Amino acid sequence: MLRITELRLPLDHADPALRVAVLAKLGLRDTELSAIHVFRRAYDARRKAAVVLIYTVDCELAGVSDADVMAKSRGDPHVRPSPDTRYRFIGHAPADFHATQQSRPVVVGFGPCGLFAALILAQMGLRPIVLERGRAVRERTKDTWGLWRQGVLDAESNVQFGEGGAGTFSDGKLWSQISDRRHLTRKVLTEFVRAGAPEEILYVGKPHIGTFRLVSMIEKMRADIQALGGEIRFRQKVTDVLIEDGALRGLVLDSGEQLATDHAVLALGHSARDTFEMLHRRGVYMEPKPFSVGVRIEHPQSVIDRARFGPSAGHPILGAADYKLVHHAANGRAVYSFCMCPGGTVVAATSEPGRVVTNGMSQYSRNERNANAGLVVGITPQDYRQDGAASGPVNPLDGIAFQRFWESRAYELGGGGYRAPAQLVGDFVKGQPSATLGTVQPSYTPGVQLTDLAAAGRAVLPDYVLAALREALPAFEKQIKGFSMPDAVLTGVETRTSSPLRITRGRDYQSLNVRGLYPAGEGAGYAGGIMSAGVDGIEVAEALAASLLGLPVNEAAASSSARETHADG
Ligand SMILES: Cc1cc2nc3c(=O)[nH]c(=O)nc-3n(C[C@H](O)[C@H](O)[C@H](O)COP(=O)(O)OP(=O)(O)OC[C@H]3O[C@@H](n4cnc5c(N)ncnc54)[C@H](O)[C@@H]3O)c2cc1C
Repeated sequence: MLRITELRLPLDHADPALRVAVLAKLGLRDTELSAIHVFRRAYDARRKAAVVLIYTVDCELAGVSDADVMAKSRGDPHVRPSPDTRYRFIGHAPADFHATQQSRPVVVGFGPCGLFAALILAQMGLRPIVLERGRAVRERTKDTWGLWRQGVLDAESNVQFGEGGAGTFSDGKLWSQISDRRHLTRKVLTEFVRAGAPEEILYVGKPHIGTFRLVSMIEKMRADIQALGGEIRFRQKVTDVLIEDGALRGLVLDSGEQLATDHAVLALGHSARDTFEMLHRRGVYMEPKPFSVGVRIEHPQSVIDRARFGPSAGHPILGAADYKLVHHAANGRAVYSFCMCPGGTVVAATSEPGRVVTNGMSQYSRNERNANAGLVVGITPQDYRQDGAASGPVNPLDGIAFQRFWESRAYELGGGGYRAPAQLVGDFVKGQPSATLGTVQPSYTPGVQLTDLAAAGRAVLPDYVLAALREALPAFEKQIKGFSMPDAVLTGVETRTSSPLRITRGRDYQSLNVRGLYPAGEGAGYAGGIMSAGVDGIEVAEALAASLLGLPVNEAAASSSARETHADG
């Protein structure tokens, strides 16, 4: 098959136009093209009056060879042999492999990273045991609504914890900036489609699934793992690790049970603060890492659609518009939009009592009235000790102390009951408290408290973050007309953009100082979204399987152990 990239057609092109364009590009007669498969469809909306679709297609030829057609295309960089994107297992366990408990791999955490780690281990015949502190996804949904509808938090089963992990109640955006030479993102997408995701996620430029579908997909993937001999245990929190001579020997659960194992994937997510503390006490090597903090901003979706798509706003192929914005502030801080959710809602995302954290989600249809996105500012470990957030000797957990400090402030300024502090953009820029809402109704539940996010002595974010946000809003207006509209609502605080620490691992994917412990996914600092967490889960599972089965660790995979860990959203 031959792959053509950068085939540009008008947004409203007729169906046969794609075939006509392919024939012209390859210089073929109609009978010489037996099939076209769309690999990717993105759009270019820089010229709003003439939005263009950009296709990558794979072409099956008939009666002519790929080589001849390639030769005719005379080095055109947009005509290449189609790559083989099928996933290949590095090996498979012999039938009697699971004879000993010690050799049965354990996966801690059942978010996207743990899910894909467990799936690959199960598909390789290694019958993993998954330990997840939260509840199964249907019960977890009720627990999450408990916070959103009644202001009642279950600290073990919520937006962050439970089957499916942090991304279950989300927009389900599935793109990532990771390099992907082995096409592992394709494996993730293919498994999601098998589990019930819409087929279009395989080809649209920015695929997303939405919350509602994610729930049933996760149940289907759980059943697949179980059918292959895997075991999933809910409400089983790992509270200790047993380490002897620098090697993992077992895990202790909150029930007191000790589970013997030499191999465990730690796919904990970025909010497992108690588990990070335990690992630190046990001497597992970790280091602080930068992340970002800020607020959620909400606009009418129609404002964003108009600004991005002009007369094409509302076109069914384009759907609700998104945006991605970056501003370098005068104080040296980078301000950027994060985890933008078109047609969605702002959600309460704390996992700890007495704290307020925001995030965003949408359904597949993305048809809620408001657009929302995190508006966040990059911070580094040097910032964690300012404002008295962290004290005592410098240690890798300082970022957690920093998060807790500002999340508690947000709870206080919100007035309790998990209401979030909020302010209109116009008031925030002028430095005055908000008293009444304008045209934008905030979607956060259990509700917002209008206030001054920068109130002296009670501010919900550090000064340098507030200053950078204030400067960025008018700058973003230049890119998206209406972005700094006075009625837009800012809700705080967005503190869980990625992990505040890294549980560092070597090229064999194992902890630097505990053999058999495989830190993985977002919590360990090796992923920043659903897709990158899933890919990391695959690579870690491969490395663990290679160790168990005596195979070499895949070198191509090992090179990505230094993956960039920016949040993808
Ligand atoms: C509201 C919201 C919306 C989001 N939207 C998107 C989006 O649209 N697109 C995107 O790419 N990303 C999104 N994200 C981020 C994304 O969800 C995460 O990047 C991703 O889930 C990380 O995967 P993970 O498996 O590494 O960790 P997690 O998904 O956090 O999973 C970790 C799991 O480990 C469990 N666990 C923790 N400690 C223990 C323990 N001691 N014992 C047993 N189990 C434990 C937790 O309960 C949890 O289920 C969103 C996040 C949130 C909160």
